[in-house]
Amino acid sequence: MKKIIIAIDGYSSCGKSSFAKAIAAKLGYIFIDTGAMYRGVTLWAIRHGMVDGPRVDEARLAEALPAIDISFAYNEERKAGDLILCGENVEAQIRTIEVSDAVSRVSAIPAVRARMVAMQQAMGRDKGVVMDGRDIGTTVFPDAELKIFMTASVDVRAERRYKELAAKGENVTLEEVRRNVMERDRIDETRTESPLRRADDALLLDNSSMTVDEQMDWVDTILRGILE
Ligand code: C5P
Repeated sequence: MKKIIIAIDGYSSCGKSSFAKAIAAKLGYIFIDTGAMYRGVTLWAIRHGMVDGPRVDEARLAEALPAIDISFAYNEERKAGDLILCGENVEAQIRTIEVSDAVSRVSAIPAVRARMVAMQQAMGRDKGVVMDGRDIGTTVFPDAELKIFMTASVDVRAERRYKELAAKGENVTLEEVRRNVMERDRIDETRTESPLRRADDALLLDNSSMTVDEQMDWVDTILRGILE
């Protein structure tokens, strides 16, 4: 069967990664969570004192980029890659609200984007990948054979992310999560470099009131049309 690239973009906390992971498992493809890569760079910047409230030391971070080693190591239990930052597994550390609060500002830095996009394009060179993010269908793989743009209401998204964080023992309120989700979307949509937007040829999936099974049925029909 021919191998394709599947690009999944959309708003924060729409369930893009779970959906992308399920599609990858079904097709035997590699799943790549590009948000984890931006989160990894952000954690590095925080640890090196380059993030001060809403301010990020853009010049110093751009200069340090070659030293920030980002990769994935497959985690059998999660059935996905854990993020490895300079040799350390930081999968848990990149999901905290501290990283979430800074990640969109770090992601808006052109030098950061250029490096991440180049890495992502190399990862998809042989196709057979499902990649989720904000600019996969517009910038990373504008020729992807299947592009999906996901959205859901803010309330549904905040609630989902809050439950996820609470289950991990993070001490946050629903209101904090809601504010973070909205603020990240605002920064992602208004940045100059590769802003979050639906590619003209992306299929829209609003999963506000859809179960995971319903989403899989939806994509199954589409995949059959492309792969068979
Ligand atoms: O997907 P996730 O919510 O973990 O992504 C974290 C942040 O990384 C996003 O809010 C966005 O600012 C940034 N991001 C991006 N481009 C991508 C993936 C993520 O700018 N392709």
